[in-house]
Amino acid sequence: MYKWYLRTLETSFPLKVRPLATMTSEIASQQIVEQLKKVGWKEDRIDAVIPLIEEINQLKKEKNAIILAHSYITPDIVYGVADYRGDSYQLAKKARESDADIIIFAGVKFMAETAKILNPDKTVILPSIEAGCSLADSITAVDVLRLRKRFPGVPVVTYINTNADVKAVSDVVCTSSNALKIVEKLDSDTIIFIPDVHFARNIQRQTKKRIIGWDGRCIVHDEFSVETIKELKRQFPDIKILAHPECDPSVAALADFVGSTSQMYEYVRTTNYSRYMVATECGIWDRLRAESDKELLGSCFLCPYMKKNTIELILEVLIDPRPENIIEVPEEIRSGALRSLERMFELAG
Ligand code: SF4
Repeated sequence: MYKWYLRTLETSFPLKVRPLATMTSEIASQQIVEQLKKVGWKEDRIDAVIPLIEEINQLKKEKNAIILAHSYITPDIVYGVADYRGDSYQLAKKARESDADIIIFAGVKFMAETAKILNPDKTVILPSIEAGCSLADSITAVDVLRLRKRFPGVPVVTYINTNADVKAVSDVVCTSSNALKIVEKLDSDTIIFIPDVHFARNIQRQTKKRIIGWDGRCIVHDEFSVETIKELKRQFPDIKILAHPECDPSVAALADFVGSTSQMYEYVRTTNYSRYMVATECGIWDRLRAESDKELLGSCFLCPYMKKNTIELILEVLIDPRPENIIEVPEEIRSGALRSLERMFELAG
């Protein structure tokens, strides 16, 4: 019998434990406790984290700060302190609408940079400076300029999972939820689509336009294999397979639904099939387990970059951020990247 498994987070909490009974905001804390239990957290771990959650929520009010958390972040952050949770596109929109003085971005560096590009007057803080991204690190602005020289006049569509300088030399940014729409709307039969090689091939499957890609990969979605999916389908013929477009096209081709993190989440939440396999990061599995009663089978993988964000670091940067945690984007890069982001909002709505 094939052994299916779930990778679970093992985080140690070298903290003083205060019993839940002594908490002040009992109801809010209780809701968080229930959600953490649903995703398998043990009581001592929950007891350790609740005082931090309370302190962070108090500090947010005092400092007019908000916390944006990507769905791949740990559930103590997602349910305990986040004001908004979602995928890159949803959070970019929230960052644009925000009237907070401080935005703490529980995500990775390119996301915090995007928030800063959209909100130059706000203080944007990334809790861990080690929260990078294999995709963002796969391409530089110089690489994009070389592609432009090689394919003159061909528009460059850049995935939001890139650094600000790459966005600045692109024509338009896209996310996993609007990439195809943007590719189709551009007035060109050939598109440079960077940096994810699998995503580019998945787009190619859906458009008549010629797509020129780049060899970047997400180390999480690159892990899913055809063999795993086929074996799941063999054992559970009624299973619905969902895949992220950063997965290999051979995996995506076997899926019943290919979409962004939020689209996959909504698909599972709003349909009533007996079981699902969701080929993406484990954070979405946690959200689905906490927020629905759907049966998930198969495996998920952790993004080591996203998991650099911890509740302890969020508290630290709220109290006293170090200069390296405060995101700055030079104005000449910011204005170029903003143009590419605004073009996305204009084309995708
Ligand atoms: S999941 Fe993949 S694309 Fe997202 S931050 Fe991690 S490495 Fe980057």
